[in-house]
This record gives sequence, C-alpha cells and structure tokens, in this order.
Amino acid sequence: MNLTNADSGQLQQWQSELTSRYQDIKAKGLNLDLTRGKPSSEQLQLSDALDGILGSEYTSPSGVDVRNYGGLDGLLEARKLGSQFLDMPAENIIAGGNSSLTLMHQTMAIAHQFGLNGSDSAWNKSADVSFICPVPGYDRHYGVCQHLGIKMITVPMDANGPDMDAVESLVAQDKSIRGMWCVPKYSNPTGVIYSDDVVKRIAQLGKTAHPDFRVFWDNAYAIHDLVEQPKTLANIYEACVAAGTEDSVLQFASTSKVTFAGSGVAFVGASANNLKGIKQSLGFITIGPDKVNQLRHVKFFAEPESLTKHMQKHAGIIKPRFECVLKQLDKAFGDNDLGSWESPEGGYFISFDTRPGLAKEVVRLAGEAGVKLTPAGATFPYGNDPEDCNIRIAPTVPTVEQVEQAMDVFVVCVQLASINQQLSA
Ligand code: PMP
Repeated sequence: MNLTNADSGQLQQWQSELTSRYQDIKAKGLNLDLTRGKPSSEQLQLSDALDGILGSEYTSPSGVDVRNYGGLDGLLEARKLGSQFLDMPAENIIAGGNSSLTLMHQTMAIAHQFGLNGSDSAWNKSADVSFICPVPGYDRHYGVCQHLGIKMITVPMDANGPDMDAVESLVAQDKSIRGMWCVPKYSNPTGVIYSDDVVKRIAQLGKTAHPDFRVFWDNAYAIHDLVEQPKTLANIYEACVAAGTEDSVLQFASTSKVTFAGSGVAFVGASANNLKGIKQSLGFITIGPDKVNQLRHVKFFAEPESLTKHMQKHAGIIKPRFECVLKQLDKAFGDNDLGSWESPEGGYFISFDTRPGLAKEVVRLAGEAGVKLTPAGATFPYGNDPEDCNIRIAPTVPTVEQVEQAMDVFVVCVQLASINQQLSA
C-alpha cells in the first residue's frame, strides 16, 4: 500500500475497504492490551522456587543474619550479583530494595536537595536545573524530573542511541543542565543498544559539563537478550575511568524483569565519591534493605551461569511475541512509508512511528476496536510528542495468539488513519 503514488480513486477504494474491515473488527468486541511492559505470569513462574528457598537458613555466606536491621550497602553476595548486571566491581555497588525506580528517584532527590559531593553541589543551589531526555524514552524517568521540578530538554534517539552532536552542544552551552537519562541497552521504547562511539562520547561529557553533571545510566534491560549472540554494550564506567570522569555516571539495574517484578532486588553502581554522597542521605531514609529477599536471590542464582540460563528461559517465552509483532509490521509497512520502527534484539518494547500527526488517532481507533495501546505522547516529557507519531508496543503479557490478533487491528488502524489523512490533505 503506497499512498504517495496512489491517485484519489485508488485511495478512496482503499478507504472504503479498510473502513468496512475496521467495522467488522469492532463488531467482534475484542478486549486486548498491548500497554503493559511487565512480565507475563508464565515468566513470573520461572522464579517460583524463590519462595521457601531459604529453608529457615537466614545466615548469609559472609555471616550476616539477614533477618535483622542493618547493612546499608546490602549483602556482599547481593552486590556481587549486581556486578553481573552493571559490569562493575561489587565494592562500587549498593544492593537495595525491590525497585530501581525508587533508587533513581532517591538518588536524584539527594543530588538535587543535598548534593552528591557536599552541600555546595546540591543542584537546587541554582535557580534553573534541567536534564537531557533522549526521546522517545521512558515515561517514569520524566515523572521523576517533573516531581522534583527539574526541567526536561529533549534530544532525538536514533539507531545508535541519543544524537550526541545535540547532547554535546547542549551540555557546552546550557549551564543549567545537571544530567541526562539513558537506557543504554534495548532502550525503552526504541530497543536500540548505544553504539561504542555513543558510550565513549557520553563518558567524555563530564569534561565539559557542569561539575555536578550526572548521567543516570538505567541499564534496566542489561541481561534481557532475545538472541543467542547479543551485541555487547560498551562499559560506561570503564570509559569514564579512562576519561577521568568516573563521578559523572550513576548506574542502575534490578531483577524486576528477571524474577518477580514486584519483589526483586535493585542496584546502584557508582564511584566511591558518589556512593558516599548517596549513603549520607540513604542512612536517614532506611536502616537497611530487605536482606532476606537479597539472600533468596543469591541462593536462586548460586550456580555458575544460572542467571544466563534463566534469562534464556525468559527469551524462549517472549521471543515469539516479538517475532509476531515484527513480522506483521514488516508485512504491512516494510515496502511503504506508513511507519518506521527498529527491530530490537532484547528488552520489552517495540517502538513504532506513524506518519506525523497520526499517533493519537491510531491509538483512538485501536482503543475503540478493543485494542488498548499506551497513550500517544507517553514516551515524551510532559506527554507531548511534537510530531504526534510515536507509539510504544509492549507484547510480553498477551499470548502469541492475542498479539497476532491485536497486531491485525493495529495494522488496519495505521492504514486507515494514514489514508484518511492523505485524502484530507
Ligand atoms: N527503567 C526502565 C527503563 C524500565 O523500563 C522499567 C520498567 N518498566 C524500570 C526502570 C522499572 O524498574 P524497577 O522495577 O526496578 O523499578
């Protein structure tokens, strides 16, 4: 279906065919949902052995009674588990509670209000504080900035990561910038892995940026590969150490999409200076994390390679869903300009760009036909996608058959919205 070269007679014919297909779909009364970036029950079941795994043995290998208070850094063995996610030494890692989002919010709030490097470094010493947000991106990152009153400045994402020319020029010119959000591997939602060059350039930012500039490196999908030979992400911390900018990066990850999404272990990894700054405030927030759950995770992943094998089981469950989405997109839009997307090799999302001005309309049409999609705009700060083109597809929860059905509807909605727009141009 190539709209650009089609005459109005052809367009009208397609419009009437698609309208009647759309009405037929509506009549089916479907109730499908592609909004939720969370594990399916089948995936959660992979970790059911966590329950009861301690068998009344509450002492950690290093001799800590995990039932008690204390241990702000988390169990040593849990921090070692964090090393497998963050690819940095356990001594640079704090293992916390169940959510990396909490750690990110707390770290940002600490940097803003108290400073990570003494009280003079608090971001709120300046009237204007802003953050670079690659778009499309993760709505909860934007929520954290908004909650803390931090202004957001967008830069576009491409197949290699954020547009680094734009990032570098912003950082050089705008002294209100105190940091940048990054989801470097299987980014939410575009699914790209930052290239080696992008990682290197991000590590260099600390040389020219404000001294309190911090990259929030949210490696939420660090080990969530769908392919057997995944591309590797360059090590940001090593690149920063080489550039002499190790204080400019804070890494985050969690087991949320590995074991139980609501009952996992989260990690923050950073330089000794940054960890000191975080812990000074963290000590007022908690006496220590849930070490019982940390020990459960340590035991669950005690065998060598067990984490990798576990993630392969996840991949076995969700890969067919991703393949189904990508197959349908390719079939419907592979030879025309009605939409564009990346084909992720991991993570939880597929991001689709319609022609400009159509995302809201596609989401509306799909919703009325019984297929719930993430609201258009959610992948941009303040919910504002200036081109109104980005839609995030999350295929992990529905069954393969449901994904297939939902994508049939999605394709018809994109085609119909595009033709309606072309005819009214
Ligand atoms: N970061 C990203 C990029 C995510 O996509 C998600 C979950 N959707 C999170 C963080 C949330 O992680 P957690 O469960 O550890 O808070």
